[in-house]
Order: sequence, then structure tokens, then C-alpha cells
Amino acid sequence: MSNESQEIERFDVVVIGAGLAGLTAARELEAQGITDILILEARDRIGGRVEGADVGTRVLQRGAEFTGAFHQDLAELTAELGMVAVPLPRHPGSTVRISHGERFEETSPFADDPEASAQLEAVFDRLGEMVESVTPDAPWDAPRAREWDDELFSSWVERTATRPEVRERVLLDLPVDAEQISLLTILWWISKYGSLRGMDTFNLRFVEGTSEITKRIADRLSTEIRLSSPVRSIDRTGADAVIAYDGGRVAARRVILTPEPSIVSRIQMIPALPAGRVSLQERWLAYHSSKIYAVYERPFWRDNGLSGVAMGSLPAEFIMDVSLPDAEEGILCGRRPLSAGRWARTPGSDDLSFTELVGDQDKLKAAYVAQLVEYFGPEAAHPREVHYFDWIGDSWSAGCGSLHLPPGVLSTVGRHLREPIGPLHWAGADTGLVDALGGAVQSGRRAAREVVSALSGAEVPA
Ligand SMILES: Cc1cc2nc3c(=O)[nH]c(=O)nc-3n(C[C@H](O)[C@H](O)[C@H](O)COP(=O)(O)OP(=O)(O)OC[C@H]3O[C@@H](n4cnc5c(N)ncnc54)[C@H](O)[C@@H]3O)c2cc1C
Repeated sequence: MSNESQEIERFDVVVIGAGLAGLTAARELEAQGITDILILEARDRIGGRVEGADVGTRVLQRGAEFTGAFHQDLAELTAELGMVAVPLPRHPGSTVRISHGERFEETSPFADDPEASAQLEAVFDRLGEMVESVTPDAPWDAPRAREWDDELFSSWVERTATRPEVRERVLLDLPVDAEQISLLTILWWISKYGSLRGMDTFNLRFVEGTSEITKRIADRLSTEIRLSSPVRSIDRTGADAVIAYDGGRVAARRVILTPEPSIVSRIQMIPALPAGRVSLQERWLAYHSSKIYAVYERPFWRDNGLSGVAMGSLPAEFIMDVSLPDAEEGILCGRRPLSAGRWARTPGSDDLSFTELVGDQDKLKAAYVAQLVEYFGPEAAHPREVHYFDWIGDSWSAGCGSLHLPPGVLSTVGRHLREPIGPLHWAGADTGLVDALGGAVQSGRRAAREVVSALSGAEVPA
């Protein structure tokens, strides 16, 4: 250790980020007997992309909310915390789809159009066949990884389905920007997510709200969490890593980094990270997402045989019924398109653009409600409450859970995603073997195990 680092506070482990992955890593380390830990968090709160918003009438989730049985590590963790996930309302009824100005009510995709339905099935069958050779932990080892990584997902969809409405439906089911990411990336995401169909596997949520998970973990930690402490640089030239943050410097034998790869690239690394890791971070695309809730006196759409699910290449591109069990009121939750590229038109206006609407609370809410009317009829015009949460411009995160890598990245430098570099260990949802919340927990546990092994001099487990 240099003289300089002897004078600064020293920890066995510094965890960067107090999101679900970072908090889980600290919890796991404590459970393994390592207690000399510090968590540095850039924001003035814990939770990262898990955040509750008290809107006066209720607490809504600005970020992550839904889960499924495939989020196994999360289920184990929440059981330890005394929380139980309950099924989302899945009311029988038709899905509304608006395509090229036409409105359809369908009990299954393209129920009245056998040719389109067969094309859609063929697309998903083909994706299903390909995904069998792609593993969540090493997609770059798939026999056809390079070939699949060379093609944009949008061009593959174009080649596979001739009907434009079928292509549109595939993209609405998968919340990704198909014109930016490679076919291999979408296969990798499907392998982590476990389903080809939109929200199919996300069928649970926590009554107390997801934000209660991070709160309960933090409440049970003895580790100090320093808020408003963005890490600016990590110097690993000495025996210990020296971490500079807004508030000082600390030294650590091991560092667990949980921000997304694109966000990590803002931290100065001394010496520079290996070229493969740098390239991965620099080319990792991420899109800020959103959530928009509309609360009604009652779930009136059910009276009309509608399930509450609606979709279209529109400002509200996907909507679902998230009404609370046994409550009288009805709640619809939706999202705007991820990027300007997916933006088609704005109902009830003179075609406002992505940049005019996104982030503008009043305009977006008005356009959203106008579109709910198109989806569900005139009763949708009078919600009791509308709440719009947009993550656009968020400084400390840039992703919603789905993975975005352009062609030629995953197959070449993807393997640097989890590989420790000296004292640096990587956690965070993107590094998990399932996606999103489940991946955050799984990766936090895995990174903690790596650190325990490293500190005890044992082999780092796979
Ligand atoms: C709108 C939205 C809806 C979503 N819905 C769902 C859902 O329904 N289900 C689901 O499973 N997932 C969902 N997700 C994804 C889910 O929220 C994330 O996958 C998960 O919360 C990621 O946790 P994490 O700990 O890996 O990362 P993060 O939560 O991003 O935590 C990383 C932490 O690092 C901090 N940080 C960043 N840079 C620095 C720095 N330099 N120094 C110090 N700290 C730093 C950040 O502030 C953050 O707190 C959603 C995300 C969004 C945005």
C-alpha cells in the first residue's frame, strides 16, 4: 500500500451503487462474515432504478415493479425479507392493437387474420429454435454467435416476416430498439428473460412495492451507505484500490461495481481498463424508459370484454391493467416508445414529435389520455389521476432491463462483462444470468462470492 493510501480510510470492500445489486452484494458479504464494507452511492437515496413515488393517494413505482417465477434469487431474497409476490390481474378479454390507424380487438394475436397469425408464430418459432443454442452466461460461445451478431434484429425481422403489421407486432412484444441491436443480443435477452412474448413471464408484483425490498435490505445492513457520493476515479496502481468520490477518498482491497456498463465508463480508471472492457462499455447502448399510470373509478374496460392490454406504435406503445386486487378502482400502466425511431404519431394533436412530448408532463399526459380513448373508448377520457415518470436524462442509470448492444459487440467483447480485473468485480442487473431485478440480485450474490474467495485466497468460483 502506498503511504498516501495508508492515511485514508480503508475497507475490505467498497461497493459502488446502492441499487438492488449493490445492497444484495453487501448483504451477502455480511452473511459470509465480511463486515468491513462501505457503499458509495451517487444519488441522495438508495434503490437506484427501484424507487417508490408517494403521489399523495398511494405509493407508485417509478421504476421496477414486475417480477416472475424466473427471478429465483429475488424470490429467495424477498422471502427472507418477509415479502410475498402476488399475481398481476390477468383478466380474460381481448387485447387492443392499433396498427396503421386501424383498431383491432383480438383474443389472440391476429385472431381474424390466419396468414398474419401464422407469420407471427413462425417468427417466434424461429427465435425459439435459435435461442436454444444461446446461454445466458456465454452467448458469445453459441456456434453461430458471430453470424447472428453481425445482423441487426430489425433486418432479421424484415427477412422473416413479409407483412408489416406482423413485424410491428414482434417489435411491440419485445421492448427493444430493433434498429440498433443485433440478433444475437435479442437472443441473449430472451435466454435471460425466458419468454419470447412481452410480459408473459412478468406476472407477479409485490403488494408493498418493489421499493420496500431495497429499504428492507438497507435497514438490515450494518454497512455504512454514503449517499450523494458519486465515484469519480479508481486508482489500482497500489496494493489497494484508491477510490475518489465527491467527499473524499477511500482505499479498498476489493471493489464491486454495480452501475450499468455505459455508466461505469464515466469513472476514470487508473490505469485504463483492458481494451475489451473499454470497448464493451463504450458500445453498450442504453435507453431511458418511462412509466405512466392512469387511475379510474373502476376498471371499465373489463365491462367491454377488454383485458386492459393494448399496444401500438404510438406514444403509449404498451398498456396493461395493474389494478390492485380487491380494489374498486382500475389502474392502467403503460410506457412510451424507447426512442424517437419507434415514434409513429400522436393522437389528438398535430403529430407532436418524440422530443416535444417526452419529459413534458402536461403534453405527454394529454397525449397519453387521448390515446387511451383510442384504445379503450370514451370512458378513458376521465381518469381520476395520471402520473407520469420518465427517466430520461437520469445521470446515474440509463436502462430499463432489456439489453441493447449493436452488431459486432456481444460476440467479440461481450466476455468482458463479468470478468474481474485485478481488484474490480462486476455486478448489476446486466451481468446477471436472468434479466432485470432477478439479475441484480443474482449478480450481487455472485460478485460477493467472488470477493469472499479472493479475500480468503481461494479460487474465484465461476
Ligand atoms: C422505468 C423502469 C421500469 C422497470 N421495470 C422493471 C420491472 O417491472 N421488472 C424488473 O425486473 N425490472 C424493471 N426495471 C429494471 C430494474 O429496475 C433494474 O434492472 C434493476 O433495478 C437494476 O438494479 P442494479 O442494482 O443492477 O442497478 P441500479 O439500480 O442502476 O443501481 C446502480 C446504482 O449505482 C449508482 N451509481 C451509478 N454511478 C455511480 C457512481 N459513479 N458512483 C456511485 N454510485 C453510482 C446509481 O445511482 C444506482 O443507485 C425497470 C427499470 C426502469 C427504469
